Amino acid sequence: MAQRYQINEGIVIRRYELPSGDVIVTLIGEHGKWQAKVKKGKHIGGNLGKLSLFHDVTAQYYRKAEDNLAILTQVQLNGALPNLSNPSIYPYAHVLAELVDQLTVDVHIGEDIYKYFVSSLRGLNTEANPASITIIYAWRLLQTAGLSPRVKSCVVCGSSDLDLRFDVTLGGVTCKACNRGMPISEELLADLQSIHSSSVRDALNRGLSNPDEHFRLLSRFLAYHVTELNSLATLKLMVSA
Ligand SMILES: [Zn+2]
Repeated sequence: MAQRYQINEGIVIRRYELPSGDVIVTLIGEHGKWQAKVKKGKHIGGNLGKLSLFHDVTAQYYRKAEDNLAILTQVQLNGALPNLSNPSIYPYAHVLAELVDQLTVDVHIGEDIYKYFVSSLRGLNTEANPASITIIYAWRLLQTAGLSPRVKSCVVCGSSDLDLRFDVTLGGVTCKACNRGMPISEELLADLQSIHSSSVRDALNRGLSNPDEHFRLLSRFLAYHVTELNSLATLKLMVSA
């Protein structure tokens, strides 16, 4: 049976090698997330090198009728953001890639998630303040996936007489009367309100008060509402070292 070749594009967000030696890559593009296999012994033309994490590629592939995983035959590198492989940047890019991967497990990806992911990687590539970039884009990706926290009024009763507390399980801040959740600083509350009411650019220009406190809240929020991200645990070790 003749094989029918197809073309697709995307940014590599995950790759792993099977015991067989075949390599599975996950890519995210404008039209969604897709997976493909590079067969062992077919690593011709530097295909695997081109399929490094965060590379933007166009790939030719075919599918066998009985096997729905695309098999890559040729890979063309459209662009790589060189600073993302820098050890001080890479862990942050990894957090955003893992988050995007998790946010698109069940739902068909919106184009917006892809767009925000691309601009977050470009931002990280500038090497200016990777922690703030990661936090602001992580909240924006969550918002795009419909998982925004409530930060302007109490998540229990709707009062705007806010206390400095954030209830991770309920997904938002609480008021003085309801008074539940983890304590947060005044600066963190102001940052969250800014992130959720302004553009990414404005939030980045404004800056964040205390990235460590942000990461603590973000990782609890993700663990409850999405999943625990391995990359975030790695990042915490790096930041606290
Ligand atoms: Zn309340």
